[in-house]
Amino acid sequence: MEKKRDFSFSLLLVPRRGSRMRSVKISHANVLRVLGVLGLLLVLLGVLTVRYVRLNQELAEQTDKLVKLQALEAQNEEQKAKLSALDREAAEVREKLAAINSLAGKISCILNIDRNEPSRGLGIVPQGAIFPDLAKEADQQRETLDALLQPAEQYVDYLGHRPAMLPKTGKISSAYGERSNPTGGGTEFHDGIDIEADLGNHVYAPGGGVVVFAGWDAGYGLKITIDHGYGIQTFYGHNSKLEAQLGQTVKRGEVIALAGSTGRSTGVHVHWGATLFGQSTNPLNFLTENQAEAR
Ligand SMILES: [Zn+2]
Repeated sequence: MEKKRDFSFSLLLVPRRGSRMRSVKISHANVLRVLGVLGLLLVLLGVLTVRYVRLNQELAEQTDKLVKLQALEAQNEEQKAKLSALDREAAEVREKLAAINSLAGKISCILNIDRNEPSRGLGIVPQGAIFPDLAKEADQQRETLDALLQPAEQYVDYLGHRPAMLPKTGKISSAYGERSNPTGGGTEFHDGIDIEADLGNHVYAPGGGVVVFAGWDAGYGLKITIDHGYGIQTFYGHNSKLEAQLGQTVKRGEVIALAGSTGRSTGVHVHWGATLFGQSTNPLNFLTENQAEAR
């Protein structure tokens, strides 16, 4: 019979000093049990470690996501604030456009322009515009103002050329129209107004234009005629001296002559005449209402 191997252990307990050394015997089965338990514990520890590492990873991922989410929320708030600021701006722009629209309406009315006429603008709205209605409205306003520009420039030009002031301030001694002939008998047609003056008084251009006559006239003596454009011409008679020359461009308020009594005249005065498209007309018609009243 084969002798059974003994795998049992003896654990020696050696005290530091004094008492006797003791021996504890551990059987083979107990060694296996202890090893089994240790093995199980190791496996359990392994599993727990893996689980712990995974949980840690997940936690890190979740924390990362949370941080990103918070950043997104902050961004979202910022975008909201920007959007409401844009909304406010859009409202302001709308208000301003409405004011421009009303202004354009008034200007059209002054210039006597029908705003419903098809305008020359292209009406392009930029693609992807944040406020397409605003962009469209702004575009329409630009077209309206574009259409007003040329008539407005023309109107300003007209205002600059219109003989809108007296060539000399003073009492009007003889009016426009039929009157008794001052140098002969009967009646005559007086094709202008006479303004009292002293010899050498300045005679001013009442509006911009070009001198189309500067010289001697049997009736009006030293005479000067200005073409203001728009069918309007004005002339000034009986001057003692001419200060502007033929072909010269003059502006309103510029001295064109000195008052006198040349030609068929009974005394020093300024004879101011006007024609509209070649027809004689009262030059006072070109003054503004305020100026006519102030005379
Ligand atoms: Zn006269």
